[in-house]
Amino acid sequence: MTALALHVGPPPELRGLLPDELVGWVARAGAPAYRAEQIFRWLHGHGVESLEAMTNVPTALRDALEREHRTRPLALDTVQTAADGTRKLRFRTGDGHAIESVLIPDEDAERDKLTLCISSQVGCALDCGFCATATLGFTRHLLAGEIVEQVYRATALAGRRPTNLVFMGMGEPLHNFDNVARALTLLEHPWGATFSPRRITVSTSGLVSGIEKLGALSPAPNLAISLNATTDEVRDRIMPVNKRWPIAALLKAAGQFPLSHGRRVTFEYVLLAGVNDSDADADRLPRLLRGIPAKVNLIPWNGFEGPAYARPSAERIRTFQERVRATGMAVYIRTPRGDDIDAACGQLAARDLVTLRPWQPTTI
Ligand code: SAH
Repeated sequence: MTALALHVGPPPELRGLLPDELVGWVARAGAPAYRAEQIFRWLHGHGVESLEAMTNVPTALRDALEREHRTRPLALDTVQTAADGTRKLRFRTGDGHAIESVLIPDEDAERDKLTLCISSQVGCALDCGFCATATLGFTRHLLAGEIVEQVYRATALAGRRPTNLVFMGMGEPLHNFDNVARALTLLEHPWGATFSPRRITVSTSGLVSGIEKLGALSPAPNLAISLNATTDEVRDRIMPVNKRWPIAALLKAAGQFPLSHGRRVTFEYVLLAGVNDSDADADRLPRLLRGIPAKVNLIPWNGFEGPAYARPSAERIRTFQERVRATGMAVYIRTPRGDDIDAACGQLAARDLVTLRPWQPTTI
């Protein structure tokens, strides 16, 4: 490699390196092979924010790591706590963009469940009319290291590792497939945080090509699909992605997604009054899903300023659930969590931080 080639493009992101890549770098640096595991453990097992914390790694090697990689951690800007214990974490990326993650304790304190909802992009390119993130537009993909760092920072804040990870924050994870797939490998690796893929759910608005790629991963995480309508006419209107991949194509991909024993595809269904909450919708929904091992999560719409949508009445929501349930389908109502701090599904917009100064490299 020429000296010039070394300077083309931004340096790789340290926390985004796969174990094999770190092994390769350590070898090129002339250090013993076991250093790769040590460094990976610091980054992903302990989730350290600075290289100085890597106390058993020689200073010269740490300096080389720093010189040759992007190492700026996410800055934690604010933590808001909702009445129900849900916490919203707002981070700033190295280049000044705001992203959000949400820590959601189980409603039943007896159960040990702690779910972390993470972001995969700054903003979102899909234009779902009922979602606050869509109003931001798309700024950029998050790098793999930025995705996993949300997990480590939330773990430190909570004082425990989340039991479940869901890619349901800002962004469309399958639009950022490569970084999301890389993040999954990092999170699952035995040198790192060792998350089981069974505890990770990737939620998509319905990018069929991405669903196929996700299903080809070994192991594949759980899949959630934001269906949100039972006819193409309505889905075209509220989720423009449907024009590219209509319901039939989406459900075909869902039916082909590999599921190990007992697993199901989750279908999210945001209930919008007068749009997709009729008895006819409730009757069509289980018919559409026939043949797919599925469960349905009904999400009463969480409001934000702007769109002319409304949440159906509690009675309408219950009736909708009952009609679906009568067919034998597993169907649950997701009670809004953290809605008093705009942390509930579809409310993430990180609005008050969008004007931050862009990051200036410190090495010039
Ligand atoms: N882009 C991915 C990940 C975002 S997950 C996806 O679409 O699945 C966010 C979930 O919240 C999706 O199921 C989406 O349909 C839902 N959602 C979006 N806006 C919402 C709102 N205002 N109220 C309730 N649910 C919403």
